[in-house]
Amino acid sequence: MNIHEYQGKAILKSFGVRVQEGIVADTPEQAVEAAKKLKQDYNSDWVVVKAQIHAGGRGKGGGVKLAKNLDEVKERAGQIIGMQLITPQTGPEGKLVSKVLIAQDVYYPGESETKEFYVSVLLDRARGRNIVMYSTEGGMDIEEVAEHTPHLIFKEEIDPKVGLQGFQARKIAFNLGLSGDAFKDMTKFIAALYKAYESTDSSMFEINPVLKTSDNKILAVDAKVNLDDNGLFRHPDYEAMRDVAEEDPMEVEASKSNLNFVKLDGNVGCMVNGAGLAMATMDIIKLAGGEPANFLDVGGTANAQTVKAAFNIILQDPNVKAILINIFGGIVRCDRVAQGVIDAYKELGDIRVPIIVRLQGTNAVEAKKLIDESGLKVYSAILLKEAAALVTKVLED
Ligand code: GDP
Ligand code: MN
Repeated sequence: MNIHEYQGKAILKSFGVRVQEGIVADTPEQAVEAAKKLKQDYNSDWVVVKAQIHAGGRGKGGGVKLAKNLDEVKERAGQIIGMQLITPQTGPEGKLVSKVLIAQDVYYPGESETKEFYVSVLLDRARGRNIVMYSTEGGMDIEEVAEHTPHLIFKEEIDPKVGLQGFQARKIAFNLGLSGDAFKDMTKFIAALYKAYESTDSSMFEINPVLKTSDNKILAVDAKVNLDDNGLFRHPDYEAMRDVAEEDPMEVEASKSNLNFVKLDGNVGCMVNGAGLAMATMDIIKLAGGEPANFLDVGGTANAQTVKAAFNIILQDPNVKAILINIFGGIVRCDRVAQGVIDAYKELGDIRVPIIVRLQGTNAVEAKKLIDESGLKVYSAILLKEAAALVTKVLED
């Protein structure tokens, strides 16, 4: 689950990570009040107005703007709230901004230069360990740095038995070229950041940029946090941070019915039990000349209810020209699933696309018979090859 920058910063702060302070606002008027409060609490004359959407690259898209007085705060907030913000990560349609974070300006002049770094903590799946990834090239697109100057990205692997060690935090601060107070502050920052990542069951904490201020403090200017969905039941307070407006509406509905659904761009909807079989089914659809419209795993215990919920979701997609249902009856009985398909079909009424059902395993023959005799516009197959041929046929018709 992704969360907003302001929520990520609140979590970081609760673990003692220094952050660029800010207050979230829904309206330009609230933005002005927030700016006044920041002036009071942190003596911040200037503020930045930051669009809150679940995508990075906001600065490039015009979603992060400096405001030097209250009139400018109101004006910038007015421009950003309600805008359809397009960044390299949102796709061409952009994302609607409904909140802004009014944050203290931390790039103030002082005794030394400000410097931006990149720091993230994430799981390295290949190594099976958490790593701290860091670079002196902060503030910019890290993918770009990885492509053109990969030697400027460092990785520190964390041993799960002992966790992040003091020497590792010092090594990171040293490699980032820091000394004196900034060096000490960076070691604290890294330790607290790692603690936050570990304690929240996260799969990623990406801070870009981490800033060294002109008075040698280290703080998080941005926060991109990804919480592991499987750990959320342990953190109801984080679960409450979910913003469904940021998620694909079809995926939100699917998760309510406990379906693993990912929307894709093709024309063949698929309903499968088991993630591996779902992947194989998508391959077969491609081989047959179609393009999958979605990934959908209805789980091991597909019944009439889940089949109906799955139908409902797939049919919301106007691109869908055919639906392939591929169920392996291991735990479930195929005839039950077939009955579920028939019931759902009758109940939903106007299903406008052909449906191909391939049922294999326990009671497959009985299931095929049920479907063939139902009188509905449902094609049945036992072999996956036959099902694929049917998909090609109905797409051509
Ligand atoms: P992103 O573009 O979505 O990654 O958003 P960030 O939070 O990283 O902000 C983008 C950029 O805005 C940063 O890299 C900074 O250059 C700039 N920025 C952020 N906070 C401040 C600030 O307090 N003062 C100034 N002058 N610039 C800021
Ligand atoms: Mn950023």
